[in-house]
Amino acid sequence: MEIDCIFCSIYAGEIPTEFLYSDDKCFVIRDINPVARIHLLVIPTDHIEYMNDSPDMVKMVVRDLFSAAITVSESEGVAETGYRLIINQKEDGGQEVPHLHMHLLGGELLGSLD
Ligand code: 5GP
Ligand code: ZN
Repeated sequence: MEIDCIFCSIYAGEIPTEFLYSDDKCFVIRDINPVARIHLLVIPTDHIEYMNDSPDMVKMVVRDLFSAAITVSESEGVAETGYRLIINQKEDGGQEVPHLHMHLLGGELLGSLD
């Protein structure tokens, strides 16, 4: 747990937040500022800031993140219609919160990346 990290604080229960999924490896919450009808954040419980600085930790947790994404895509009703997963990294990636997380967007037709 990293002091002053919003996602570590949420996992520790210091900020009241609905958990759509939670175990000792990762948890899923709704994004506070959704950009799609369904906008979830799939977050490892370990405080990993930048993937490239912690490749071994990333390898340990990646299957748990994808497994949680599959689980909540089904519980949130987007498994049939589809969804998009995004991980922003550092400045050029537009990362605001320096604790690794995967966005799951869906519930509507998303814009093209072209
Ligand atoms: P990033 O830009 O780092 O990839 O995404 C960070 C996301 O975290 C943003 O979409 C932002 O809306 C979301 N976020 C920031 N603070 C909070 C919070 O306190 N609670 C929740 N649920 N989401 C947050
Ligand atoms: Zn953290």
